[in-house]
Amino acid sequence: MPIDPTLPYDDQNIFAKILRGEVPCKKVHEDDHVLAFHDINPQAPTHVLVIPKAAFVSWDDFSARGTDEQIAAFVRGVGEIARMLGLVEPGYRLLANVGLDAHQEVPHLHVHLFAGRKLGPMLMTA
Ligand code: AMP
Repeated sequence: MPIDPTLPYDDQNIFAKILRGEVPCKKVHEDDHVLAFHDINPQAPTHVLVIPKAAFVSWDDFSARGTDEQIAAFVRGVGEIARMLGLVEPGYRLLANVGLDAHQEVPHLHVHLFAGRKLGPMLMTA
């Protein structure tokens, strides 16, 4: 079920539980600001989710309320993880779903990082 991104942050969401260590994840990288882990239902040979440790519902929430330091740390963190995984030369795709039409399912900001095969052009899907 897609979430309503205008609702306040719900600290019972699955990624909040992963951040608190209540639910396990296959960790790729962690620093003071960012956690990256493998998606449980991968859509590409490499499908990593990158999340900020601070509580933001979506990219919209983050871009409106995040501090310059948080935003810089997150953007740099995503880039660093892609470099760490050796993905710059072969290439990778980033995606952040926001809200109902994009079918955002988890109400904690996450960027999907897809790689490991030819991802093709962006296509409109039903
Ligand atoms: P979105 O539709 O952009 O909100 O994507 C949510 C993503 O979270 C989906 O790709 C799910 O497969 C993934 N996901 C949900 N629960 C978990 C979990 N416990 N560990 C890893 N990935 C998860």
